[in-house]
Amino acid sequence: MMIPRRRNKVIVIGGGIHGCATAYFLAKRGQIVSIIERDHIARHASGVNAGGVRSLGRDLAEIPLSLASMDIWNNLHDEIGSYAKAFHPSFYLKVAIDEEGYAFGSARAEELERAGYNHEIWLESSDVQSRLPKLTTPTYGGFLVEGDGWAIPWQIVRGFAQGARQHGAEIIEQCNVFSLELKQNCWRLKTEKGFFEADYIVNCAGAWAAELAFQSGEPRMPLAAYAPMLAVTERKPPILPAVIGVLGHTLSLKQIDTGQFVIGGGVRAAANLGENSGEVVLPELVKSMRLVAKLFSDIAYAQIIRCWSGIEGYMPDNLPIIGHGKQPGLIHGFGFSAHGFQLGPAVGKALADLVMDQQPRIPLDAFRPDRF
Ligand SMILES: Cc1cc2nc3c(=O)[nH]c(=O)nc-3n(C[C@H](O)[C@H](O)[C@H](O)COP(=O)(O)OP(=O)(O)OC[C@H]3O[C@@H](n4cnc5c(N)ncnc54)[C@H](O)[C@@H]3O)c2cc1C
Repeated sequence: MMIPRRRNKVIVIGGGIHGCATAYFLAKRGQIVSIIERDHIARHASGVNAGGVRSLGRDLAEIPLSLASMDIWNNLHDEIGSYAKAFHPSFYLKVAIDEEGYAFGSARAEELERAGYNHEIWLESSDVQSRLPKLTTPTYGGFLVEGDGWAIPWQIVRGFAQGARQHGAEIIEQCNVFSLELKQNCWRLKTEKGFFEADYIVNCAGAWAAELAFQSGEPRMPLAAYAPMLAVTERKPPILPAVIGVLGHTLSLKQIDTGQFVIGGGVRAAANLGENSGEVVLPELVKSMRLVAKLFSDIAYAQIIRCWSGIEGYMPDNLPIIGHGKQPGLIHGFGFSAHGFQLGPAVGKALADLVMDQQPRIPLDAFRPDRF
């Protein structure tokens, strides 16, 4: 006789990509799930990011997670149905435009080979040029990953939220979690909509997560908040089939289906967690724009129509926190350090595994909450 699996009551704090993907995989597997979100689904980093779906250039420790996530991205329709149309796979090219970039690329190639990874392929400069005929700067070559691409971020997050809802999850928006406390094996949350109880809490509260964890009795984790910035141009005829990065420089560039160029890559400003706001420092963003103009003269005169930033949590080693907290039933998933959107689907699956006491497919040791 099959013994039915226990149905845990789980509260996921935070309606970003990680919270929504976690809730989706938990609800799909029969758990009783609520997402509690202070603002609304995809309001913060997960909804306003550059949408880069990039396995290229990951820290070695993150590659297995990133590749596992790519497997989900490539079959996203199976999970979130028509919302998956918001993902546009193409290829990612990170080029070397100076000797420092080339040296960095050579060291990276050796590191990848030693570690046994072959998803990043080094292209010679002539191959880079034939892949990017409109490129106006000579290169020393670059790394290519086929199948990386970009997505409209808020649509993907909504897709996971909707999927979670269809599997029975409850989504409670505009509900700030003030505090959480463990009492007799039961988590009790004080929120602006009253008290909630759960067997498990998954802390996906983004840049706010470490403070919430500390308040609940966890050791202090060194999460810092910043506001990575983006700019978008007017529409232009299509010239750029790939997402572009530059080795040794903080830049990401893509042309989305509207013809607009999105310019970002990690240049960041100050964030104010209390006020839910991030600054935009134009002189910093202008450096990225200048680099874009050098790479593609066709983009040099495209009007910038909007700049913005989003609030993101950074860890000192730029690796996320994914794993069990010190207290039973508390699980953390935060600190994605400006590259967590692509990881979201696999992180959601791994966090759901942890709640259900199953061994995640991907080793999570490098992301242990107690590593600091
Ligand atoms: C401008 C920008 C560009 C980026 N570009 C990329 C990119 O191209 N590719 C990539 O992979 N990554 C990118 N990132 C990083 C990526 O967006 C983040 O790593 C990821 O979205 C983090 O998701 P999250 O669910 O952990 O956090 P969030 O999206 O921040 O979600 C956390 C949620 O928790 C809620 N919350 C917090 N405290 C409470 C509380 N007390 N009670 C209730 N709710 C609470 C918040 O309101 C928030 O909605 C970028 C980030 C930014 C800001």
